[in-house]
Amino acid sequence: MFDLIVVGGGPAGSSAAGWAGKLGLKTLLVEKEQFPRYKACGGAVTEQALSHLDFDLPSELREATILAARVHYGASSIEARMDSPLAYTVSRSAFDAYLLEEARETGISVSLGERVRRLEEKDGSVVVSTDRGSYGAALVIVAEGAHGTLKRNVRRGDCKDKYGVCLVAEIPLADTSQDYAQDAIEIHFGIGGMGYGWVFPHGEYYSVGIGGLASSLRRPRETMAGFLRERGFDPHHRTRGHVIPVGGVRRTLASRRVLLVGDAAGFVDSFTGEGIAYAIRSGHIAAEVAARSLSQPGDSKAAEEYEALCEEEFGSNLRYSLFLARLMHRFPGIFFKLLAGDQEVIDNFARVATGRWKYERYLRWLVPRLPSYLLRG
Ligand SMILES: Cc1cc2nc3c(=O)[nH]c(=O)nc-3n(C[C@H](O)[C@H](O)[C@H](O)COP(=O)(O)OP(=O)(O)OC[C@H]3O[C@@H](n4cnc5c(N)ncnc54)[C@H](O)[C@@H]3O)c2cc1C
Repeated sequence: MFDLIVVGGGPAGSSAAGWAGKLGLKTLLVEKEQFPRYKACGGAVTEQALSHLDFDLPSELREATILAARVHYGASSIEARMDSPLAYTVSRSAFDAYLLEEARETGISVSLGERVRRLEEKDGSVVVSTDRGSYGAALVIVAEGAHGTLKRNVRRGDCKDKYGVCLVAEIPLADTSQDYAQDAIEIHFGIGGMGYGWVFPHGEYYSVGIGGLASSLRRPRETMAGFLRERGFDPHHRTRGHVIPVGGVRRTLASRRVLLVGDAAGFVDSFTGEGIAYAIRSGHIAAEVAARSLSQPGDSKAAEEYEALCEEEFGSNLRYSLFLARLMHRFPGIFFKLLAGDQEVIDNFARVATGRWKYERYLRWLVPRLPSYLLRG
């Protein structure tokens, strides 16, 4: 019998379990894969994400230091360049393995290569059934990512306009016919209708990918092949698919004894696709709520408290990200004209992307200036 069982060892699960270990909870983390394992991702870790870690990320895990973002739409492009890092790129296999080891060092138990099959909430506990046996815990944190069905213990699955599909390839530096800056990420809007594409440098390789709403990104493999060709990569390069939740949608986040964190909860910035920062932070919040709930037996307010804290910390930010993403996909030409029309508009957006500004602050800054920016020739 554990105080807490965490399902999944990605950034959300490791952060939740490690935080719970520090708070003195008897914790078990169960992960279905052996680590290090592959995870489809652009691997951009922003300043905001790093600020949530209570340890330094070793320099050998930082594959490229990103100082600039280049945004493209059709034939136009703009660049935001900062004098301090916007983000670092990492390989998720190494990054996630490092986070898991940090969590293990807090004294928690970790079981790798064990898949959780079912959760059953009883009066005072949850029975966690795996492909090896079963465990009991007072509370469970589900950090299974965007795939997986354990979240259905808390809420129904998402329909097609509530998640996106992504295809990603990792391509060696030498295998491109184009020159890419090693300190800049490239984002291309308008790929495959309502979609976007990216090229992120990782030192030895590029992460190249496309993403878009599952309901509107038709023929993703063809779209990816076209994007690879246009960007100077082999269109037949091996690609892998993954889903990503649309963030900012209202979803139930917890039941009486089960809390969802990270992608399982839908915590992704819909405009930038950033999810790692929210995964780490929601893991910490869930562990704190679990510790408080366990110190007050009979208290059944964990679900309400967890939902309220997430809402307070980043709920409205994610909703603004969705609002802006919808606006951008609906009026891409106007949106791009706005971004490209004034350096301050894109520079301040870079502040949002790194977490230095919230979307609300950005919009409060932008809206009064809109008429003059849009009416410019
Ligand atoms: C193509 C793509 C590119 C992205 N690029 C970026 C980016 O550049 N920057 C960024 O910040 N975000 C990015 N994201 C989002 C980011 O990857 C996610 O938000 C983040 O991984 C969420 O972390 P998580 O811990 O919730 O889930 P995950 O990282 O998916 O981890 C879930 C873990 O749970 C395990 N698991 C699942 N089911 C079970 C089970 N039943 N039993 C036991 N274990 C289980 C899995 O094996 C996995 O290890 C990207 C996403 C995609 C799809």
